[in-house]
Amino acid sequence: MTPTVKELDRAIPVADEVDVLVCGGGPAGFCAALAAARAGARTLLVEQCNCMGGIATAGGHNHLCLYTDWGGGRRVVGGIPFEMVRRVVAAGYGVYRGGQIDFELEGLKLALEQMAAEANLKLLYHTLFSDAIVDGGRIAGAYIQNKSGRQAILAGRVIDCTGDADVAASAGAPWEMGRPGDGAVQPCTLMFTIGGVDWPRVQAFRKGNYKLESVWAAAQAAGDMEPFQSQIMGWWWTPTRPDQVGVNFTHMVGCDPTSARSITDATIEGRRQAFHMIPVFRKYIPGMENAYLISTAALLGTRESRRILGEHVLTDDEIIARTAWDDSIAYGSFFIDVHNCTGPGMDGETYHPEPGFKYQIPYRCLVPRGIDNLLVAGRCVSVSHRALGSLRVMPQCAAMGEAAGAAAALSLEAGTTPRAVDVATLQDRLRTAGAILDDAGIEAAEAEDKAAATY
Ligand SMILES: Cc1cc2nc3c(=O)[nH]c(=O)nc-3n(C[C@H](O)[C@H](O)[C@H](O)COP(=O)(O)OP(=O)(O)OC[C@H]3O[C@@H](n4cnc5c(N)ncnc54)[C@H](O)[C@@H]3O)c2cc1C
Repeated sequence: MTPTVKELDRAIPVADEVDVLVCGGGPAGFCAALAAARAGARTLLVEQCNCMGGIATAGGHNHLCLYTDWGGGRRVVGGIPFEMVRRVVAAGYGVYRGGQIDFELEGLKLALEQMAAEANLKLLYHTLFSDAIVDGGRIAGAYIQNKSGRQAILAGRVIDCTGDADVAASAGAPWEMGRPGDGAVQPCTLMFTIGGVDWPRVQAFRKGNYKLESVWAAAQAAGDMEPFQSQIMGWWWTPTRPDQVGVNFTHMVGCDPTSARSITDATIEGRRQAFHMIPVFRKYIPGMENAYLISTAALLGTRESRRILGEHVLTDDEIIARTAWDDSIAYGSFFIDVHNCTGPGMDGETYHPEPGFKYQIPYRCLVPRGIDNLLVAGRCVSVSHRALGSLRVMPQCAAMGEAAGAAAALSLEAGTTPRAVDVATLQDRLRTAGAILDDAGIEAAEAEDKAAATY
């Protein structure tokens, strides 16, 4: 048994009292907080890093997809998540094409802070959500920890966007983690950025062999590369920084994202793998002869962690069947992308849909069972392990965040719990804000995109 000590019995200062507290400022948390603030709720976002954006900024992943249906045809994500795209492109920090945006990490950080300031959204960086304050089956705020010490934030509604369901777990809401059977989660990846790349030559070399599996196999056979990975998971190139590439390649299996020890070990191993790959890239990839390491990400890339058990658990079967939901709040469209939980490469659970694939996401997946006034958005919502392989991508997490923020504000206004919120009113508000929930929304976005010269 782990030895314990008793925490000091002391009064905790209340640092703030707000309508809506959002924990975690990734794509989901940013959109949740902005939607709540825009709806007039006094909103505070607390984030452990020094920026918003989560994996898209601190996590070094300079690529978001998918805003369209599978295959890049019609746009299925609007609202705040697409405003983020417009802002970054208009400021010259990225390019949107084929339903995906490639961007500069620093440009996105700045755009999100500008949008927050315009909505009077309060931010507290360098601040860790620590424990939920629960009173009679309802969440009433959170204990936080930062340079100023341990403090409390009292809130009418709390939205858990930590990616790990830290708040829901602390509040006693039920959750699951990992795949059925052995509980293994998808591997973690520490993103890194390289410079000195001649991208057109890399592109020419890669034509017809996107993942370069044969190249890594040859490097491993020659003893130049360790066998932790067998394919490129993403080389993200941003035209506004033409000699730089964001690299999705490090691969740490067996990492428990809810254990500080485990994420520390995975981060150290990811950095080691990043350095290890530089000479391999130089030797084996035409166009990368002069590549050098610019940075490793501040935040370990977690694909999968706790998933809450909500009022509905969205399954992979429902996604594949494109089940329609009366309480739809957003669309997903990404393929079921499950990386190998126990070795290099991908898992056998991958599902490649036909072009045009898209599915609705029900509001009930954001509502945890057993605890009131709490909503959850992003990759820790109520879905099956395999369904998360599709739903975890950033435009979808951001769209779920916007819905959670709007629902929190609406529930306060209506004097009801988020569980009992009038879903038709929520949907009307989301539509008015430009979110896409149904066919009519897709048609409206199509007309908008035709009218716009470029994003
Ligand atoms: C390597 C990798 C590649 C990926 N590739 C793609 C891709 O190509 N396209 C795509 O769209 N998506 C991709 N994804 C998926 C996507 O990045 C994540 O699923 C998505 O970012 C989840 O959004 P989120 O807001 O739920 O969580 P996150 O982006 O993880 O954000 C969570 C935020 O909460 C903060 N936080 C966590 N705990 C606490 C706490 N206790 N207190 C305070 N703050 C806290 C974190 O610092 C972070 O800022 C990838 C993910 C990884 C890891």
